Amino acid sequence: MKYVLIAIGLIIIILGLVTCPQAQPAEELPGYPVLRVVDGDTFICEMEGIDTRIRLIGVDTPESVHPNKEVEYFAIEASNFLKKLLEGEKVFFEYDATNNSTGHKDRYGRTLAYAYRSRDSLFINAEIIKQGYGHAYTSYPFQYMENFLKYERDARVQQVGLWAELESGESGEPTENDTVMVYFTPSTKKYHRQSCRYVTEKSTAIPKSEAIAKGMEACKICSP
Ligand SMILES: [Zn+2]
Repeated sequence: MKYVLIAIGLIIIILGLVTCPQAQPAEELPGYPVLRVVDGDTFICEMEGIDTRIRLIGVDTPESVHPNKEVEYFAIEASNFLKKLLEGEKVFFEYDATNNSTGHKDRYGRTLAYAYRSRDSLFINAEIIKQGYGHAYTSYPFQYMENFLKYERDARVQQVGLWAELESGESGEPTENDTVMVYFTPSTKKYHRQSCRYVTEKSTAIPKSEAIAKGMEACKICSP
């Protein structure tokens, strides 16, 4: 009886190994093949036979069509970084409930998504910000905003990626604006003191220096 049980056990293990999806070669990974990287936060992949333009949610990288030379350089760096992450790879997606009403499309018809690299589940949107190749995009709410703002803060402190270039002329000493926290609500351009009547439970706290760097304006009522 004991040997029968051992034999059954071995058969189950062997069957498990044979049918295990991890035993498949890399090109058989599930996901959508990436066809082309467009810029630092946009790429095209093939979904059900259709070339689909994906705009990564919650991240903003420098524009490549800006007249300013410096910005242009950053745009190429950001685009090259996304190429390094995605070329020849497959990806799978997660969507954000805030875009349900538009079928997860933006006004340019791009699909709004969180992308994960198939072979290692690397969270691409987060990786861009962590490595300093893009900002957390705060104009619209999304589920990972708090996390992305933290990744951006860490990237700036560590001066990785583009932050190394941007902040190299500044002293490393934190200023008062780095420690004062202000509050803003996505889809608005103003920041406030915590006590301001415009601060709601949807507001997010960030250092004042960051709000200024993102081009937000101080509220005229609470003057933070
Ligand atoms: Zn205010």
